[in-house]
Amino acid sequence: MSKFINKSEETNYNAKKKYGQNFLEDNNLLLEIIESASLTDETEVIEIGPGLGFLTDILIKKSKKITAFEIDKGLIPILTKKFGDNDNFELINEDFLAYDLNKIVEGKKNIKVVANIPYYITSPIISRLLEFRSNISEIYLMVQKEVAERIASKPNSKNMSILTHSVQFFAEAEYLFTVKKEMFTPVPKVDSAFLKIKVLNDDKYISQITEEKYFKYLKAAFSNKRKSITNNMLSLGYSKEKVANTLEIMGKQRLTRTEEFSVQEFINFIEFYKQNKKKVFGFNSNIDSFFAFSDTYSVLEQDAI
Ligand code: SAM
Repeated sequence: MSKFINKSEETNYNAKKKYGQNFLEDNNLLLEIIESASLTDETEVIEIGPGLGFLTDILIKKSKKITAFEIDKGLIPILTKKFGDNDNFELINEDFLAYDLNKIVEGKKNIKVVANIPYYITSPIISRLLEFRSNISEIYLMVQKEVAERIASKPNSKNMSILTHSVQFFAEAEYLFTVKKEMFTPVPKVDSAFLKIKVLNDDKYISQITEEKYFKYLKAAFSNKRKSITNNMLSLGYSKEKVANTLEIMGKQRLTRTEEFSVQEFINFIEFYKQNKKKVFGFNSNIDSFFAFSDTYSVLEQDAI
């Protein structure tokens, strides 16, 4: 535990490493965060981890309602003393990941999330929030810089990864700005970045393919970062000929890496691969009879289609 001297109060607080506590008090930075989120007096906000309440203080003034989740019991009296009198403030002393979010988002739309989150649970937090994408429209998070780069990555970048697709399958991600580690107390080991995740309101990808099928192929395609998509699919038992044909139809090289694919291109890849299967073997979509005739057709392929 490292001692945090709260500059705006007389309270000294021992920041708990196990809860990822690195506090942000710089007023200009807090204002920049709030401005990015374009809050109005109609906006309902969820904050994960209010900490000592520096960001919370501004959120309360700029939004219709704020629901804050804080796991650390030690912070509850401080937050209650500071904000307990505000009608638009609700404090939930629970682990955000274990809480049934339906209780607070059900029947609501366009909720925004604004938070400087604990980095050790960044992926599960984002994944949980995206589960509630029909209620939550925009997510603004302070995260580790490298994680923001990966999530907001564009095709053809070395940062494209399964994490990128896990977010961009459901939302647009934008790297807003970098925050140097010295801005936090205690100072962490890594720099941070403020990230915007805007949910796709037309479900444009999930209307084309199931989440399950998409990620099954994607995991295969990314199984070895150093290999081309062809080699990755091959080593998992997919047909070399079909992968090569599919890439050719798409105007891509055999040695193309999965990092080159956008979400839409990867959906096209899966679709073309499936159509190509029919073309190569001259079958219609009768999968059972297809398996009966094809010894080389791997278990993985059967599963994936
Ligand atoms: N928002 C504050 C700020 O900017 O100064 C604090 C940010 S600090 C990086 C992360 C906060 O999340 C801490 O207050 C920590 O106690 C809280 N936290 C950690 N794990 C949590 C969890 N699972 N659920 C809710 N809050 C959590």
